[in-house]
Amino acid sequence: MHCPFCAATDTKVIDSRLVADGHQVRRRRECLTCHERYTTFETAELVMPRIIKSDGTRQPFDEEKLRRGIQRALEKRPVGAEQVEQAITKIKSSLRATGEREVGSELVGNLVMEQLSTLDKVAYIRFASVYRAFDDLAQFGEAIASLEKR
Ligand SMILES: [Zn+2]
Repeated sequence: MHCPFCAATDTKVIDSRLVADGHQVRRRRECLTCHERYTTFETAELVMPRIIKSDGTRQPFDEEKLRRGIQRALEKRPVGAEQVEQAITKIKSSLRATGEREVGSELVGNLVMEQLSTLDKVAYIRFASVYRAFDDLAQFGEAIASLEKR
């Protein structure tokens, strides 16, 4: 960030420590131009981005809906509840990691597919066939072929 005193872009971190039970990093910085010192606090952005649907409407991220979708794909498959929760945690982390306030629903779909492809290939195909609404059998075949290569 720019120096709040002279707006120079080069600052040096002279001290860095964890505060707030490790949920925050406090940094003491010194401007390399005017030598003023100031403190910054860094915390993780834990707000989930809102979801932009394909029709352009926005919705809050709905974890229950995500869980239901994944569970539906995994119906009668040998995947435990713990693995499902881990997948959901990973998807949420990835969404937060974008740092965006809003993300397209297709990103959520792609993250789900990524998780399902490692959890269970049948569930992956089930989800992908519904989610991507395969236009033709060739696409479906391509999806299966890409699984074979993993
Ligand atoms: Zn300065």
